[in-house]
Amino acid sequence: MIEKPRYQDLTNYMGYGSGDILNDLDPASSDLLARIRSMTPEEVKIKIEVASNAFDFWSSVPSPKRGEILLKAGEIMESEKDSIGRLMTDEEGKTLRDSIIEVTRSALTLKFYGALAFKFGGSTFPSADTDTRIMTIRKPLGTVALITPWNFPLSIPVWKTAPALAAGNTVIIKPASKTPLMVAKLKDILMRAGLPDGVFNIVVGSGSSIGNTIFSSKLVSAVSFTGSVPVGKGIYKAVGEKPNMSRVQLELGGKNAMYVDESSDIARATEFSIRSAFGLTGQSCTATSRLLVHHNIYDNLKAAILNKLSAWKVGSGVNPETNMGPVVDKAQVSTDLDYIGFGQEDGAKLIFGGKTLGHELFLQPTLFENVTEDMRIFREEIFGPVLGMTIVKNIDEAIELCNSVPYGHTAGIISNNNISINRFVEGVEVGVVKVNKPTVGLELQAPFGAFKESGANTWKEMGEEALDFYTKEKTVYWGW
Ligand code: NAP
Ligand code: MG
Repeated sequence: MIEKPRYQDLTNYMGYGSGDILNDLDPASSDLLARIRSMTPEEVKIKIEVASNAFDFWSSVPSPKRGEILLKAGEIMESEKDSIGRLMTDEEGKTLRDSIIEVTRSALTLKFYGALAFKFGGSTFPSADTDTRIMTIRKPLGTVALITPWNFPLSIPVWKTAPALAAGNTVIIKPASKTPLMVAKLKDILMRAGLPDGVFNIVVGSGSSIGNTIFSSKLVSAVSFTGSVPVGKGIYKAVGEKPNMSRVQLELGGKNAMYVDESSDIARATEFSIRSAFGLTGQSCTATSRLLVHHNIYDNLKAAILNKLSAWKVGSGVNPETNMGPVVDKAQVSTDLDYIGFGQEDGAKLIFGGKTLGHELFLQPTLFENVTEDMRIFREEIFGPVLGMTIVKNIDEAIELCNSVPYGHTAGIISNNNISINRFVEGVEVGVVKVNKPTVGLELQAPFGAFKESGANTWKEMGEEALDFYTKEKTVYWGW
């Protein structure tokens, strides 16, 4: 058994505000993990000044030296993955297994950008003149603001912070109010790895009270946000109205579909559907919430999914037998239950789950059938363990339905037919397509960014491409 870490100590890494008290709760037990004093807009401004003042120094540290700090931070995180995983499960609720996977991936992400800092350079080009060389050099932007959600409370802060620091920017980060301790832990590790004071700064407080102070600050050169569509749109608008333009990167919600083709293997399709819809309690931007199923295999697939779900265990993420942890909080479970009601009102048939069991946040995995295109559970993001099934006649209808919502995050196909797979990969309007894989799960070395309303469609995250967002490139014509 991994022991509970000492939570209140971590709040030291956030600094202390004089605003409202924020109670950080464990969703599985309702235990109070820590009480955090949030910051006022004035206190946030002071933190932004600290970050801004640290920029000249940090950007002048040679990039391989910056890389060494990130590599060291990755090593520390890797060596403490069990206790950090436990903290994540206590704070967010996901199973310990999933938490440890997230911590491991975050450690690798720190190392990946640490290594890339060693080759943080530009390109060279030939010139038409004999006495000239053309090249580009890459420069950091300044102070960048990162605003992150609660569902991947460590990996999203890390996949923004690591490229930002590798490129020489200083950081202001506002974690989700439900999961600030994970970001405090990140700061603890970065400082132990040798990051100088003032380079990575946490501000805590509700997005509605301090968000505007962060992204409208003249001292902030770029804003990277992951969260919901309405908040993302508000940020885009507010940043656009600033006198000095800032870069904006937005990764937002989804309503992802997976198509199960008639050629697919039922056991595999069942496993991937369940993992994609109910893994991480359905609280993933890449989760599948619409299952489009070819009519020829519908009955078999439905029976196999129901059979698996009947053995599915919902409970505390710390228990190794748990398949699905709690919903993150009361507000989210009430949204989930509202949508379960809307599904029934709109005429879909509830065939599994739909209720909480034992504890108000332990929601059953919930399955609907006869879901049609006009229904709210087909069109709107729920962000919970609710899956709707729709029968389709062929690949064309599957692609059309997949694309019929405003979102364009992720889509999946389970099939053994290469012609259908190719049609699907080419035809779906999404940033990530998974073939014979669950829709959940992204690898850090590949670029990632959603289409349509699921993002700003500006800059990719992850991969080497993430460095582009945090960098400006100068073109030099060097003659002699
Ligand atoms: P959210 O309500 O939009 O919050 C995200 C972050 O923005 C939090 O730090 C939040 O702070 C802050 N915020 C809220 N209102 C704000 C405002 N007016 N100004 C500035 N910041 C504000 O989203 P969430 O509920 O945390 O996360 C779930 C959403 O994130 C889902 O829609 C999901 O699909 C999306 N998501 C997308 C991706 C992706 O990569 N595309 C990944 C994960 C999640 P508080 O916590 O203080 O409210
Ligand atoms: Mg919490």
